[in-house]
Amino acid sequence: MLPAYISHPDCMKHEMGALHPECPERIAAIRDHLLMKGLLEFMQLYDAPVATEEQLGRAHALRHVREVADKSPPSGYSQIDPDTWMNPHSYQAALRSAGAAVLATDLVLSGEAPVAFCNVRPPGHHAEHAASGGFCFFNNVAVGIRHALDVHGLERVALVDFDVHHGNGSEDILCNDARVLMCSTYELNLYPFCGDEPRGLNMVNIGLAPRSGGDAFREAVDWGWIPALDAFRPQMIFISAGFDAHREDDMGNLGLVEADYEWVTRRVMEVAQRHAQGRVVSCLEGGYVLSPLARSVAAHVKVLIGAD
Ligand SMILES: [Zn+2]
Repeated sequence: MLPAYISHPDCMKHEMGALHPECPERIAAIRDHLLMKGLLEFMQLYDAPVATEEQLGRAHALRHVREVADKSPPSGYSQIDPDTWMNPHSYQAALRSAGAAVLATDLVLSGEAPVAFCNVRPPGHHAEHAASGGFCFFNNVAVGIRHALDVHGLERVALVDFDVHHGNGSEDILCNDARVLMCSTYELNLYPFCGDEPRGLNMVNIGLAPRSGGDAFREAVDWGWIPALDAFRPQMIFISAGFDAHREDDMGNLGLVEADYEWVTRRVMEVAQRHAQGRVVSCLEGGYVLSPLARSVAAHVKVLIGAD
């Protein structure tokens, strides 16, 4: 029973132009670094399946699912918003990214894998119930969470999101779903410019001031997330694993380092061991400078799979 690593070559065919930061090389940089660190030896590798319309429909309006399919260009690019584009492979990559979260959920809840990491793109946490945006088309973690609740019958699932940007899409889909607790940290006054007023009682949104650093982040997790998670007693935890709060990533200014990602992963794993039989699914979100991205993911995965 090895931890699962889920990815797919289709995730590297989606691209949004040569200079776009959410680039295919992110997937390869992460894979190569996990390989170099010897961490992939401890994991079972799986190809991400495509998510079905039924699976996507648990988190999204069906008209949104069909709109994404309709906007898929036969050649060239189609624009979704100023930052988000589709090429002819984007739709398939988006289906694989969401399908990875579904497979991860099945593997972890069937006991075939203790935990799972999804090295997939496009990311998902800015995708709302009925809207793409912010490099995202389908909300991968929300699709996985609804699969865990609606198909596997879990009653309480938590989502933690440490991307430098607030997971507005996840909040849009999951707010006021009493079966879910979402805990988020993000940088204030940054895209998508929301989160400061939580949209439901099941949301723990903690905005951090620019340049506040790892100490402020850890304090927010210890005083904001952990008591809420312990009170909620999740049966499974999903992680929106974005690494763009790293100090070498110019997407944000929170100044985190690998040790902070290692630390927060350990805190989340401790909660999972207390309440959720250690069941955790982590899905890649942001992180745009390849070297700190790959190093941060390795720090995260090392703790996730218990190789620390
Ligand atoms: Zn981000």
